[in-house]
Formats: sequence, structure tokens, C-alpha cells
Amino acid sequence: MTTESQRIAGALPLRPELRDEKPYGAPQLDVPVLLNVNENPYTPPPAVIEDIAAAVADAAGSLNRYPDREFLGLRKGLADYLGRESGVHLVPEQLWAANGSNEVMLHIMSAFGGPGRTALSFAPTYSMYSEYARNTHTAWLAGPRRDDFSLDAGEAANLIERVQPAIILLTSPNNPTGTALEQGVLASVLEAAGRVDIDGAPAVVVVDEAYAEFRREGVPSALELLASHPNLAVTRTMSKAFAAAGLRLGYLAASRDLVDALRIVRLPYHLSAITQAAASAALRHADVLLAQVEELRAERDRTVEWLRQRTVDGTPLRVADSDANFAYFGVFEDRHRIWQGLLERGVLIREVGPAGWLRVSIGTAQEMDAFKNALVEVAGL
Ligand code: PMP
Repeated sequence: MTTESQRIAGALPLRPELRDEKPYGAPQLDVPVLLNVNENPYTPPPAVIEDIAAAVADAAGSLNRYPDREFLGLRKGLADYLGRESGVHLVPEQLWAANGSNEVMLHIMSAFGGPGRTALSFAPTYSMYSEYARNTHTAWLAGPRRDDFSLDAGEAANLIERVQPAIILLTSPNNPTGTALEQGVLASVLEAAGRVDIDGAPAVVVVDEAYAEFRREGVPSALELLASHPNLAVTRTMSKAFAAAGLRLGYLAASRDLVDALRIVRLPYHLSAITQAAASAALRHADVLLAQVEELRAERDRTVEWLRQRTVDGTPLRVADSDANFAYFGVFEDRHRIWQGLLERGVLIREVGPAGWLRVSIGTAQEMDAFKNALVEVAGL
């Protein structure tokens, strides 16, 4: 059977390394309980919808012009939000944004990766990173995690010294496992990154904090280390805690120099006037949009606890510690059968990462009840 990309390659000069590749695709299925892509289950409140609609209508009045290329208004809104959320005060020039943190990550790879350079991460982790690396001709290497998905500070530092990566990608909380990065590990990675020599410069360390707002009490954000590390970048997104995945607004905080490097590789006017207007309006309602984060964290903790009390054939389920809006659990002999059984009962979750493990996003209490009931039926817990 020929794949889509092999068929294309016969007719068009597709790059050889893309010939066996498929487009990214978590299934987008129309089922009652969607718990597969870590979305926020709550729709925006009417007052927020009204404000976004008014801001977009206003922006539409000047759509004949290109948008503000530097979007400093939106960058100030993001800096103000981070100041309130984490107590770290940044200037707008230290913020960057793009169409989802996916695009921010592509900017990072375009600016600091490339032929002859390596991006290093630790598996299992977010599956898109390796694709950005491939697209930017950057070599990709994923080091190991411990059995509980945490990182070993010493081993990580040794690997960095050996590999000499230009980019080190850490995800905290990590996807798909939900585990947060320990402060000691980050300190050790930053130290090792400082000793890397890429044409006389240290490695760039990226901490992807897409799920940061869901972290448990006492877990710090890497934002606190920005002032002392000009080679550190922290990425965030409005897709998860802000309940605005459809907006496509991801952002990054770093030193001015690092942000200026990203400005070189971005496409001209990459953030539409509509996106800028909608995102700025949504930021003005940050408190309302984030109101459900507390509830989702509590539901997450209840779900993890519930899963930990279940056994399959006498063996307790393993459930990773989660600081995110999802839970990662296993180990099932045939995880596809469990996934399929849940789908047949109207509950869509995700088969991702090491064999036997499944990931469920945290939805409303009713959605989690539907998930639990279906899981009990299918897995015989
Ligand atoms: N980073 C991580 C760890 C993610 O899980 C995701 C989305 N699932 C993203 C980045 C991308 O998010 P977005 O492009 O919607 O900002």
C-alpha cells in the first residue's frame, strides 16, 4: 500500500526525509466526551465573547492594512499577565508570541537549530518537537527519563556535555506524563548548557510551560530564572489554562537578545490583526478565563487518586504525578483495546508515549464520571 507521502513523492520533489511522514493528527472525532488533546472543557463566558467580538470588529475596520508587526500592545498585555501570575516582572520586549506555542517553538528551532546542530530533549515528551527539528534540518536526540518519568540531574548534564546541543528542550509539566521538572534538574541543565560551546555561545534552554498554570502549590516556574540566564526561554500558551485553544496564541518570555533572534526568522506580519485583537481582549479577562483552573486542578487530583485505587488483574494501575490538566496511566497489556472500548462508549482519550500507557485530559466532573464508568466497564477495574 502506498502512503499519502509516497504518492506525493512520485509526482512532486518532496524532500526525501518527508517521504514516509504523515501529517500530525490526533483524531478529531465527533463524540460526546472529548478528553484527548488537553483542551479546557469550559467555553468562554458571554461577557468575554462580547468583548472579543467588539475588538475583532474594530480591527476589521482596518484590515486593508498589514497588522502591527511588532505587536507591542499584545506583548505588554502578556508581560502584565505573567507579572500577576508568577510575580516575575518583564518588559514587553522580553515577550514574543505566535500562532500557538507550536509556532514559537518553530521560531526557536529556525533561529538556533539548523544543519550541523542538535536539539536535545528527554523521552517521552511532546511529539511535535522532533517534527520541528526535522523541518528545520536540526538533528534530534531524546535522552532517557527515570521509571517515574523524572529526570536525573547528573545524567542530563553528562548527556549535554557529550552531545553539545544548540537547543535543550525541557517540558514542565511534561506531556504526556504530567510530571513537573525539579528545580535541581533545571539548575544542573542550565549549568551544563552554559558550558556548551556552539560557535563560542552556550546552548539555548527552552522550558515549555504550556500547562504551568495547573501546577501544584509550591512548584516554581522557570520564569524566576530568566533574569540570570540570557540563554533561557520559557514558552506558554493561551490554549490550555485560558481556555482559548481556538485562538492560536502561544508566547515566550526570554532575554531581549533571544527575542530579537526570533524576530529575524518569523514570517512578516505572522500574527494577524484579528488574532492580536482577540488575544488582547481575552487577556483583559484573564481572571474570568482562568477561574476554572482551580476546579480543574481539584478534578485532576481526584482523577489521579481514583486511578491509583484501581487494579487490573490484581495489579494496581500506575499513575504518574500530574501538575497538568491531564493524567497518564497504565500499564495495559492492550491499550488500544481500552482506547477503542472507551471510544465506543463516547469517550475519546489518547494513546501516546510508552507501550501500555494512556492519557486522559481533565474535563468537567460529569465528563470524568463518564470516563470512569466507561473505564470500569472496558478494563474490568
Ligand atoms: N507544548 C506542549 C507540551 C503541548 O502539549 C502543546 C499542545 N498540546 C503545545 C506545546 C502546543 O500548544 P499550542 O500550539 O496550542 O500553544
